[in-house]
Amino acid sequence: ERARPLFSFATSRSSASGVPAGFRPPPRRVVVTGGAGFVGSHLVDRLLEQGDSVIVVDNFFTGRKENVAHHLRNPRFELLRHDVVEPILLEVDRIYHLACPASPVHYNTSEVYGDPLEHPQKETYWGHVNPIGVRSCYDEGKRTAETLTMDYHRGGGVEVRIARIFNTYGPRMCLDDGRVVSNFVAQALRRQPMTVYGDGKQTRSFQYVSDLVAGLMALMEGDHIGPFNLGNPGEFSMLELAQVVKETIDPMASIEFKPNTADDPHMRKPDITKAKQLLRWEPKVSLREGLPLMVKDFRQRILDE
Ligand code: UDP
Repeated sequence: ERARPLFSFATSRSSASGVPAGFRPPPRRVVVTGGAGFVGSHLVDRLLEQGDSVIVVDNFFTGRKENVAHHLRNPRFELLRHDVVEPILLEVDRIYHLACPASPVHYNTSEVYGDPLEHPQKETYWGHVNPIGVRSCYDEGKRTAETLTMDYHRGGGVEVRIARIFNTYGPRMCLDDGRVVSNFVAQALRRQPMTVYGDGKQTRSFQYVSDLVAGLMALMEGDHIGPFNLGNPGEFSMLELAQVVKETIDPMASIEFKPNTADDPHMRKPDITKAKQLLRWEPKVSLREGLPLMVKDFRQRILDE
């Protein structure tokens, strides 16, 4: 017997499939690995809000207890310090696997595409990765994860979903994460020059974290395995991003050019047609709307340092 689901999804249809508005799914027990991290903790907020019980599994390499501290008294919330490379037995209805040191310093999931020759990137594109490049541990790690996921699905009948997450920003990102949005925002707030790598003409598409969380939940509760691109198709060069940060934080903010890392993708922008059609999902928050929400959180944390 193939593709026998491990879990019953019979009651988990989304409103996209004709369930009346206001319908709430029955409470479930959900594991979020990396749940004390940036994306994971925002997902945990939404899951608890909709009545689910949540077990966070996090080794706190890059996650922070402060990100989930506001749930510690909630009886539906549990926090486990555990490294997911070690086995753990938990009986649950859903697993969101978001544990991964994603920062280029500690070295976003659309990395499966590498330095893409197709633009924008559709899910059917197989990618362009230098297997021995400095970024390849990350890129190939994501690709291997998809391979294993599909093998468990085909071979073991495990019900799975695959998201390809594009650059995401928002409150609770690590201040020293090293990613471009967090760097520029922290630098502008500290009145340091914003470090633009290379000529700054490379592009990225920046998604606000609440849009990503909505996409992950729609994917989990929908009928399609994916892979799905989850990202905001609004494309900005690093110079344009610096300009938006400047307008948002400090008109006097300056720029400093630094050498770029090898194998840096020249451009990245998701084609999200598939997610729009099959998940009825699309991002709602533009960079100019989302950035101030992140700045508020960063300003407070930088003041507290
Ligand atoms: N980048 C930059 N200044 C920084 C950090 C990053 O110009 O302080 C550039 C980096 O070279 C890359 C882009 O911003 O072209 C996005 O980098 P990030 O590490 O945020 O994400 P990723 O490369 O994984 O998309």
